[in-house]
Amino acid sequence: MYFIANWKMFGGLNSLNSLHKVVKFFKVFKKNKLIKIIYCPPNILIRPMFKKLRNSKIEIGAQNCHENDNYGAFTGSVNSSMLKSVGAKYVIIGHSENRLSGESNKLINLKIKSALKSGLKVIFCIGETLKEKRKRITKKVLSQQIKQGLSKIKNKSNILIAYEPVWSIGTGLIPKSNELFDIVNFIKIKNSKNKILYGGSVSPKNIKELKSLKNIDGFLIGGASQNPKKFIDIIKKTYN
Ligand code: PEP
Repeated sequence: MYFIANWKMFGGLNSLNSLHKVVKFFKVFKKNKLIKIIYCPPNILIRPMFKKLRNSKIEIGAQNCHENDNYGAFTGSVNSSMLKSVGAKYVIIGHSENRLSGESNKLINLKIKSALKSGLKVIFCIGETLKEKRKRITKKVLSQQIKQGLSKIKNKSNILIAYEPVWSIGTGLIPKSNELFDIVNFIKIKNSKNKILYGGSVSPKNIKELKSLKNIDGFLIGGASQNPKKFIDIIKKTYN
């Protein structure tokens, strides 16, 4: 199971102080379990977090990257090889917060290609808006996001797909169990080699319901991941 913490634009150097709780917990808890914890902090925290987690088996990812894997005159941007050089092993691409501010499937496809070329693993986010859900076109939207986002990528083994309904992110709402099970299966059938994660308001309160769906390979966790106690609680409750 994957537990991926997306800190979004939260956190400073002092936020790293509480990570020792997760490190301590993971050291004991991971025995005999196939479990991965990945922290995706803001870019400025990647290197200090990398140093802090060096001996912990907790891995680090970034939250986005530029589509160009060479250096270039792109003010404010960071590319995938730069992220890798400071300690990231993963990168989230296609998060709905970035899609909403203009990232197209085509651009996402270029970013994924660039990240894979640099040797990063990709956490590829897909999901429908509330409007699309109400129109009952969720599967059509997801198919299009996958088809265009992964276009002309032959080796998909380093891609995890995170299904994140846009209406669920940060709202406290999660999909009905039967609907979520069906959608994850739908994604799995077409992408049998990829791990499929769920993201959207995952919390210690709803994790038991979510983990009962046996087809989910892990969770992408936003708000709750910024609190080590909640994050640890989510992981513990997934396993018992
Ligand atoms: C996310 O940002 O990927 C996310 C799932 O956020 P939250 O858990 O806060 O809904």
